[in-house]
Amino acid sequence: MVATNATVVGSGPNGLAAAITLARSGIDVRVIEGAETIGGGTRTAELTLPGFRHDVCSAIHPLAMASTFFAGVPLTEHGVRWIEPPFAVAHPLDDGSAGHVERSFDATADALGVDAGAYRRLVGHAVDNWQVISDAVMAPLLTIPRNPFTLARFGLPATAPAAPLARRAFKTPRGQALFAGLAAHSIVPLTRPLTASFGVVLAATAHIVGWPFPAEGSDRIATALRSYLVEELGGSVETGRWIDALSAIDTDLALLDVTPRQFLSMSPSGLPTRVERSYRRFRYGPGIFKVDYALDGPVPWTAEECRSAGTVHVGGTLDEITDAEGAVGRGEHPERPFVLVAQQSLFDDTRAPEGKHTLWAYCHVPTGSDVDMTERIDTQIERFAPGFRDLVLDRHVMNSAAVHAHNPNYIGGDISGGSQSGLQSVFRPRLSTDPYSTGIPGVYLCSSSTPPGAGVHGMCGFHAANSALVASVKR
Ligand SMILES: Cc1cc2nc3c(=O)[nH]c(=O)nc-3n(C[C@H](O)[C@H](O)[C@H](O)COP(=O)(O)OP(=O)(O)OC[C@H]3O[C@@H](n4cnc5c(N)ncnc54)[C@H](O)[C@@H]3O)c2cc1C
Repeated sequence: MVATNATVVGSGPNGLAAAITLARSGIDVRVIEGAETIGGGTRTAELTLPGFRHDVCSAIHPLAMASTFFAGVPLTEHGVRWIEPPFAVAHPLDDGSAGHVERSFDATADALGVDAGAYRRLVGHAVDNWQVISDAVMAPLLTIPRNPFTLARFGLPATAPAAPLARRAFKTPRGQALFAGLAAHSIVPLTRPLTASFGVVLAATAHIVGWPFPAEGSDRIATALRSYLVEELGGSVETGRWIDALSAIDTDLALLDVTPRQFLSMSPSGLPTRVERSYRRFRYGPGIFKVDYALDGPVPWTAEECRSAGTVHVGGTLDEITDAEGAVGRGEHPERPFVLVAQQSLFDDTRAPEGKHTLWAYCHVPTGSDVDMTERIDTQIERFAPGFRDLVLDRHVMNSAAVHAHNPNYIGGDISGGSQSGLQSVFRPRLSTDPYSTGIPGVYLCSSSTPPGAGVHGMCGFHAANSALVASVKR
């Protein structure tokens, strides 16, 4: 029976991508979102004071730019205006210097001085072969790669743990720290295999597609996707309705923008035992602690580079970042956490009243943590921007429990939809030629618990919908 209608549960970027992909194939699609607003990890809200618009979850969007799904959606026509700061990221050190990554590969490498060659060797292959690598990274490992040698040349160094690789490859603390900060986006201790791949791929995205963000807020991505789905493709979106049981869905197809644990709680009848076992074994990663600031002025970074960067990695040296992420991996709270900072209002005056600024910051913490990391995050920022504390007008904080309460997909504050360590970084949520299928005919997972994993790129939803479409024709 060829499917004619579908329900997508959850309106995160992957849920909306799945809905759009299905609707484009002529399927009658409705999206059901439990929260009062759409968007999942792409929401923006006045979390602190009136007129200060904070990205509640995602802020910076290299993965959206690298996504073939997003490339095919008329986001601009539906209200997204991308802003790309001069520098994608800066990484300050105690001596007042900073490493940075900008769009130009050569300028980035040259700014690293004696480490220019090391940067070229580590990141250059991915930059030169971006399409091959991005196709592989953005898809499930289902097929034999078309360019196995190109991939192998990327894969060998990328499978390494980031910390020893950075120590070996770079001579200066600046080069080492810059790479460590990029790799730490994995939320995996930097002594573990595969963490280098996060650093290489993220650096390459900065050169190929940039690290932009949408004017007015990340929620513009969600509203554009909804607008395209509803206005042009005839889909519908309902908010404020939680789906607790799979039996509540009566359409030919059900695509669920949820993680395996949530799926199991929906009493899915007919779930094959081997799939159930895999879902029960699915591992969740550490949580996060987030602070959103309303500021009386821009952050007074000592290093000039930080004032031109959309993202600032605040964590000091390679050793410090390795220690901080290692502590989180052991279930401890680092005294000096690695803090990811985004400063959208420097480049987007819609984010705060005139002369004022927002600041978005979070660090990694053990799963489910209720420890207040505000003081440690403040101290880390103040360390590289003396006078920062005096500018704070208001703060909004979310510990891991609050992050989970905000979005049930963030189990224990895990923002990646499941740990990205080891084989689970590629084979998620289970080892299968169709990782989206639950084994129940017509029922699929489409969240970031599926390949290619975390981030706002919609590719999990896109692949899940295609998998459902192919199977529906075969049935
Ligand atoms: C603090 C933070 C910072 C981040 N920063 C970035 C960043 O800068 N760049 C980036 O690319 N990514 C970032 N991410 C990650 C990114 O937001 C996620 O990877 C992405 O949103 C995952 O999309 P998704 O569609 O799989 O799930 P989600 O975005 O989590 O959406 C799932 C949706 O499903 C709904 N839902 C769940 N269960 C049900 C149910 N039973 N019934 C109805 N509705 C349900 C939820 O309410 C939610 O709206 C960040 C995340 C967080 C939390």
